[in-house]
Amino acid sequence: MKHLTFNGGYQFNFRGAPSAEVVDVSVGESLRFDLDAGTVTWVCEVAQGAHVDAFAVLARAKDAPEVCFVSPVAGTVARVVVGAAGSDEGGKVASAELGASDGAAGFVEVTPDDASATTSPEGMALDGSWSDQRNEARAAVARAGLWWRIRDGFTGAVAGLDDSPEQVIVRGLFTEPFFPVEEQLAVERSDALVRGLEVLDKLAGQQAPALVVVRQGMPKELSELVKVKSVEIVEAPARYPAENPQFLDGLLAGWSGRGSGRTWVIDLQDVLRLGDLATTGVYDVREYVALAGEGLSKPSHAMVFPGSSISHVLSGDRAVSGKGPVRVLLGGMLTGKSVSLDGWVTPGTRSVVVVPEHQKRRFLGFLAPGLDEDSFSYGFLSNLAPGHARGAHAGLRGQVRYCISCSYCEWVCPVGLNPQTLWKLGDIGEVEEAASQGLMRCIGCGLCSYVCPAKIELTADLKRSQEQYRQMLAEEEAAAGAA
Ligand code: SF4
Ligand code: SF4
Repeated sequence: MKHLTFNGGYQFNFRGAPSAEVVDVSVGESLRFDLDAGTVTWVCEVAQGAHVDAFAVLARAKDAPEVCFVSPVAGTVARVVVGAAGSDEGGKVASAELGASDGAAGFVEVTPDDASATTSPEGMALDGSWSDQRNEARAAVARAGLWWRIRDGFTGAVAGLDDSPEQVIVRGLFTEPFFPVEEQLAVERSDALVRGLEVLDKLAGQQAPALVVVRQGMPKELSELVKVKSVEIVEAPARYPAENPQFLDGLLAGWSGRGSGRTWVIDLQDVLRLGDLATTGVYDVREYVALAGEGLSKPSHAMVFPGSSISHVLSGDRAVSGKGPVRVLLGGMLTGKSVSLDGWVTPGTRSVVVVPEHQKRRFLGFLAPGLDEDSFSYGFLSNLAPGHARGAHAGLRGQVRYCISCSYCEWVCPVGLNPQTLWKLGDIGEVEEAASQGLMRCIGCGLCSYVCPAKIELTADLKRSQEQYRQMLAEEEAAAGAA
């Protein structure tokens, strides 16, 4: 068993956790996919009005055309939109390069043949049989629409098809509030997991070990995995951000030894897909997602078709509670983004969290000051009752004010930084000095912003300083090259 030392971090205890029930959400009227997906830009491959089979190629990665994005259903390409976000002008364009460098968005929308389908579609994802040759296996996985799910641990970008990683991190544990427990999937589908790990071993090549990250005190069924060749188990504390790819990469490589292509990261449910692909030629396209938060009447887990509309996913039994305005967060409370109910479930999404939008004044709240508040501060009664689940709402982070040098951000930082100092250095433009104090180690986990009682946007500001520093280095390099 691999031993890593996890420092800092934070353990959340919110009400609104999903029940163990897993519901099947039907595919609905349409599925929509952004083609400018942040870490990968897709180039549209299909024409508007065309009929596509399940697993047909919808788009290819701009920088690596072998890497495909496939249709999760059989259906009709209802729209292909190119251009600025929100514009429908490009709907006339059948096939075009999307995701321009200015961030202009585009999307493809597919209308399923069967809107009521609740199971993964039949279809051939593999042309020909599975190959145990590394490069052929990589090509098959890329064509089957699974390669983009393997990420570089250092950059977060899609792994390179010619990478030679030294290790592969398999994330079975998620510590951000309300992410699903993927370990459970592994316990239930151990055959697919073992096969998936063998495939991963083949894809990574040169015997890069798969480090399967699970919670401390993992189910005994998982301990059997160590018998699989090239698998090591890492038991991590249930403290955010134990599963953060950059964090794990830094712990494994030593912070100065990190580098692109060195570490791959994949989620456990995607390893199961690899196992199914190699065994049967198809896999379940649906995402295993947590639908959670106090804004929902019945938090649960769900199998959701990627690209589903959020309003469709949050309907029926899964509907918003209707007790006031809510905020919908796609992809996590700390690292996700706020979306409207008209939004779409991005492929790879692990959680849809719905929290009440504002904090109401509590009747006689002074009798139990802060008992219901999640706070890093000792000034709240909740610190004396750690077992008491607290409310998660959109106004959790105190009041806007100057830095009060409380050092909470430093105590909680999992990579041992002093965010307040880095933030102050960045504020006066001293990014070089900030870099000498570890600025580039920041993994963007968002914890410092979360605990800051002054509501300073430390994470976003540090990210900006990192970009300034990278730009400064690039300019220096260019000047040195020109001299
Ligand atoms: S400084 Fe970076 S790594 Fe540390 S808590 Fe803040 S966001 Fe996380
Ligand atoms: S948590 Fe906020 S207020 Fe406290 S030291 Fe850090 S930046 Fe300053």
